[in-house]
Amino acid sequence: MATTPAPAICIKLHRHVSNELNGQFPDNVPQLIELPGIGRSTAGAISSIAFKNQATILDGNVKRVLARFSATDGWPGKSAVVEKLWLIAETYTPYKRIADYTQAMMDLGATLCTRSSPNCEQCPLVKDCKAYQQGNPQDYPGKKPKKKLQVKTTFFLIIKNNQGALLLEQNPPAGLWGGLWVFPQCESQDQLEETYLKLGIQAESQQILAVKRHTFSHFHLDYQPVEISISHSGATAGQVAEQGNQVWYNPQNPLSLGMPAPIKALLLKQN
Ligand code: SF4
Repeated sequence: MATTPAPAICIKLHRHVSNELNGQFPDNVPQLIELPGIGRSTAGAISSIAFKNQATILDGNVKRVLARFSATDGWPGKSAVVEKLWLIAETYTPYKRIADYTQAMMDLGATLCTRSSPNCEQCPLVKDCKAYQQGNPQDYPGKKPKKKLQVKTTFFLIIKNNQGALLLEQNPPAGLWGGLWVFPQCESQDQLEETYLKLGIQAESQQILAVKRHTFSHFHLDYQPVEISISHSGATAGQVAEQGNQVWYNPQNPLSLGMPAPIKALLLKQN
């Protein structure tokens, strides 16, 4: 019969105990955390359950139970918060029936004090649980603070010719929205005139619309659409179009072009 190969960490652990500890598996936390793959909480679980020592655990489930029980604020990924939870965990760790206590705390977190729907009515800690008394167990433990995203800004120039077609440009293959078709852009309102000149157009009318936001994983893009009408068919702009990265897009007879979602949404409004 085929046997399942032991995971690499077990082999490493076995070698370490055989070679470094003369085959003697440690029973206390300081020595257990020296073993490969054993952290502080796992060391506490082994020492308390297997060897009945007064040792403390604080795995993810127990962190949640204790954060709620003591209404401890803050995200446990922060060292100050986790250290506070360790102190609380150590305070409650009993001398007697340590294995039962450890198992019960892990089970409590896994079955009753669950992340999204704590079953407080059935919980043996309900009378003393601060989060239950406050009526907000799900606010604990605190969530990871969100990173404040950088904000970039741009103006999208929605240039419409006298035939209702809109000027689009294809982005270079690398970079933001690489290879996709977008409206011509400029960075500020002051650059509008200069950008019209570069594009070879003369704006007959111009309307600056309200700012909209598109969020990427690392930044927000605040873009402001500017609706511009020109009185010709874009022949002047056609000179630039010969570069191959511009097209007059007719929303009534649309070409199949790859576009980012905000551009598609703005085009829909032009129909
Ligand atoms: S009373 Fe509710 S919130 Fe408090 S420990 Fe028990 S299940 Fe968790």
